Amino acid sequence: MFRYLASLLLVSLVTLFCCTNSTQAKYASSSSAQQQLKKHYQEISHPTPNYSRDKVNDVQGIVLHHTAEPTIERSLGVLTSKKKGVGTHVVIDTDGTRYIMCQPEVVTFHAGRSRLAGRENCNEFTVGIEFQGNTLEQPLTHDQILSAIDYMLPLIKKYHIPISNIVTHEMVREAYKRAHPDVRCYGKVDITQAEYKRVMSALRRRL
Ligand SMILES: [Zn+2]
Repeated sequence: MFRYLASLLLVSLVTLFCCTNSTQAKYASSSSAQQQLKKHYQEISHPTPNYSRDKVNDVQGIVLHHTAEPTIERSLGVLTSKKKGVGTHVVIDTDGTRYIMCQPEVVTFHAGRSRLAGRENCNEFTVGIEFQGNTLEQPLTHDQILSAIDYMLPLIKKYHIPISNIVTHEMVREAYKRAHPDVRCYGKVDITQAEYKRVMSALRRRL
């Protein structure tokens, strides 16, 4: 009788252990599936020395650019060169990795002569996003667009940025030129309208 009870207890314990294990396994596999669905991109700090020491960015818009450099190393080099004196808030590589050059509240020098919603000098009130590559030659990668949206969404919410204030470098430069037809102001297409439309339609799906 004792032996019977002992073996019954053993069977119950084994069953309990197996069930617990299989439940844990099921849980683990479903959470890893969720992680695959929601991909997060790596952020690497890569500070630029080119920023304003006395002004604070009052974040009301976002300006999209492409670096027009052949490699990420070259882009990071240009955007941290004291001689060139230009900067940005983030550079997004083709695999979606984000190189953070300064915080959104910092004023850095990405927009030059520019105008947005009737206000000039966009460096003082916009965040600059640089995409690695040249959209005149190659479209943005899917990872670049998804990574840009992951970066932009918290900013849009925190600062109540109107969607109409998310624009390209070319758009803010052209607006400046229209207001100052006498001033010479050159610049590249940056980013193309076709790629801008891709970013904006992907963004609207996430809002
Ligand atoms: Zn630009």
